[in-house]
Amino acid sequence: MTSILLRRIATTVILMAIVTGCTPESTSDNSSDPAATASQDGAPPADVIAALEAAARGEPFEDDIHPVTVRTGKPMSPIQRAFDVKRYVLSIRVLPATRSIEGTVDVAFEAVEPLDSIELDLDPTLEILGATLADASLAITRDEDSFTIALPMRLNAGARATISISYGGKPHVALAPPWYGGFVWSEVDGTPWFATAVQTEGCDLWWPCKDTYADKPDEGVEVIISAPRGVKVASVGLLAGVEEGDDGFDTWRWTSRHPYAGYAIAINGGPYELVERDYTGVNGTTFPIQFWALPANAGKAAKLIDTDAVPDLEFFERMIGPYPWGDEKVGFVETPHLGMEHQTINAYGEQYKRGDHGFDQLLHHELAHEWFGNVMTHGRPEDSWLHEGYASYMQSVYAEETVGRMGYFDRMYGAYQSSGHCLPVVNPDVGDVGEAFENRDIYTKGAWMLHTLRYFIGDDAFWAGTRRLIYDTAEPWSLVYPIKSRYRTTEDFIRIMSEEAGQNVAWLVETYLREKGMPVLETTRANGQLFLEWSVPGGRPFPMPVDVSVDGEVTVVEIFGEATSLAVHDAARLVIDPESKILRDLGIIGDCAEQTETKINKNIERFTRMAKEYGWSRN
Ligand SMILES: [Zn+2]
Repeated sequence: MTSILLRRIATTVILMAIVTGCTPESTSDNSSDPAATASQDGAPPADVIAALEAAARGEPFEDDIHPVTVRTGKPMSPIQRAFDVKRYVLSIRVLPATRSIEGTVDVAFEAVEPLDSIELDLDPTLEILGATLADASLAITRDEDSFTIALPMRLNAGARATISISYGGKPHVALAPPWYGGFVWSEVDGTPWFATAVQTEGCDLWWPCKDTYADKPDEGVEVIISAPRGVKVASVGLLAGVEEGDDGFDTWRWTSRHPYAGYAIAINGGPYELVERDYTGVNGTTFPIQFWALPANAGKAAKLIDTDAVPDLEFFERMIGPYPWGDEKVGFVETPHLGMEHQTINAYGEQYKRGDHGFDQLLHHELAHEWFGNVMTHGRPEDSWLHEGYASYMQSVYAEETVGRMGYFDRMYGAYQSSGHCLPVVNPDVGDVGEAFENRDIYTKGAWMLHTLRYFIGDDAFWAGTRRLIYDTAEPWSLVYPIKSRYRTTEDFIRIMSEEAGQNVAWLVETYLREKGMPVLETTRANGQLFLEWSVPGGRPFPMPVDVSVDGEVTVVEIFGEATSLAVHDAARLVIDPESKILRDLGIIGDCAEQTETKINKNIERFTRMAKEYGWSRN
């Protein structure tokens, strides 16, 4: 056990306590609603329960994930920086009977600098059987979770090559997907049901890849999966064909021309029934919405497309702009875990439960990530709030449309109470995506910063800035496909929002995101005066005006450093910030230790219930 693994275990208390993964930070607690899908009855296997409980308590548990494999988005090595991946082709046979996989991955790449070798990542649990370039065998050197392939000749900068890697074995089994990811194995009425979910661990958990969000295959991916007949495989992009083998396996060929972060490429297998309808987007393109549902749930899936998928798409296209992958599809697939924003094939495991505020929060959240996460991807792990803060905030904005201000503020209050303020949201010390996700505030405080900024700069500037963040234009309505993918950082966000606002808003964004605490508005009432002064973490400047309601009449009070005062008569009824525009410390959140204790217990309950509902097992 290495020091990194120890770190991982040491931080497990926090991780399990605050775990939200890719999914909404609050979904309805519908433990009484039995899964319509998993066929398992009774308690989950004892080893699953033991591992989940140990993880929740921060104790070691039997889990063979390699401590470096578990890190995605860690800094690239010099060799990894010296080449640019152009396309991946995965050709993999899935063998549910032995929980193993075997196949090849072709990596097409271009040398950025003169290149004698390339380096890729792969969990050491999986065996590399060989590598070839134009049928010539290449020498491979493995080192922990990475391996180096010697090229037969030096490639000059700009030259391209494609290497084919054969590999196989038993991929890591997810402990509590999607938060503790890997391969997810289940079954439905005797038919295998499987999925992959590796957001914080990365693609190298099940296939050889460059395990970073920072080098997407610019020319797309092909995912060719063979699975036992009866298992239908849903994956990214478009289905190019299904071939029946004479060995009892069918081969499903999915192809996409778009770039993908490694974790956003997923395979899902099960006895699916495809539910499909066409949708015409804001730019006039008609494309399919596909829902790969378990057969017993096909009717529910069809209904969910009408009640949620279509209105959600209309919402995002109206507020943000064209669906990014309308030249391929909008995809959902029913999975034996809660959810994940897999590009064009979102994992859906909410089991068609009626969500809070009149909509399916999970479906909405994962769909939001097609904009916030997939087409616009964070530039560094520390910018993960750009995915999760925005995706969470969009749920609140939509809740206002479905049930009015009650829904908006119900979600915002939930987010307020769930924020820990134990770490900065943008923390340059995080070394990988997993570490970034150990801080739940990337969801909740990220959403609250957006709320406060929106009120400060106004709707027009806020939404124009949001559209520019995604598309580089505030008027994306008629963009044609392919829509360009881009990376964004917190600095990009500040620059764009400042330009739209016509003033520098760095002080606002940075106070909320770079400090772990919140501003406190100190108020004192004496001698017919109300004195107001900001006390700000890090002593940062915070020229935030505050609404004060005096007997129902609202005055905007500008506060600039020095104590500011407002005349109020002694009997006046005062409400500070009556519309809750400003994220500030209201003294209602427990300290970090208190928060952890409550949430550990909640998570033990939550994960053991999920293990039962989804039929998770370890062996
Ligand atoms: Zn998310």
